[in-house]
Amino acid sequence: MRLLTTALTSFLDALLPPLCLLCGAKIGVASGAGDVAFCTDCLADLPVLQAAHCPDCLIATERGERCGACLAHAPDFDHAHALYRYDFPVNRLIHALKYHARFAPARTWGLMLAGETADFPADCVLPLPLHPERLAERGYNQALEIARHCAHARRLPLDVDSLQKSRATPPQSSLSLKARQRNLKGAFSCQSDFSGRHLLLIDDVLTTGATANEAARVLKLHGAASVGIAVVARTVRHY
Ligand SMILES: [Zn+2]
Ligand SMILES: [Zn+2]
Repeated sequence: MRLLTTALTSFLDALLPPLCLLCGAKIGVASGAGDVAFCTDCLADLPVLQAAHCPDCLIATERGERCGACLAHAPDFDHAHALYRYDFPVNRLIHALKYHARFAPARTWGLMLAGETADFPADCVLPLPLHPERLAERGYNQALEIARHCAHARRLPLDVDSLQKSRATPPQSSLSLKARQRNLKGAFSCQSDFSGRHLLLIDDVLTTGATANEAARVLKLHGAASVGIAVVARTVRHY
């Protein structure tokens, strides 16, 4: 049933004339009909990432200095990119993409991430995988829905098989940093030899960075020369 709903939603998305997801205005050809899910005005109003952020993990810092966590332990990924802060209305759009199969913004975001990462070498694009049980429950992986457009725009192969979520993990948000790291031990497995290859990981949200970090660690154990992480939104720090 969920699969059917998903298929029907994407069918309707493709059929309907392009309207801005936020204000409902018709998206003119001039602003790139078919490529964007938002009108120019709404796109300009979305919550951009804070200018001052940790260069390693993108969390907001006072003067753009490296954050304490990255100073204590540099992440295993080599570069990080986010289009937005995880704030209204981006958080609602991501929620709708993740839980209600509203795929319309995935293409826009995938294309934007391709532009955002264009200066970084990549041999292939990988979506952050879901555990097979969660994937069966949801019917799709929202990270893959974004990653496929990013890979296409960058003319890179999309690798959906090599990296697997081999262990289901409880939600990260309720855990402390130490508990999160423990929670993720053995969460990913990798089937491929990535010796000397540059990889680009795609996800919807970067929250603690612990999941992306563990995935990058596993990919590097399998030879990856570099791993970048590109997401739609970075969560804001709550003091
Ligand atoms: Zn609009
Ligand atoms: Zn940091």
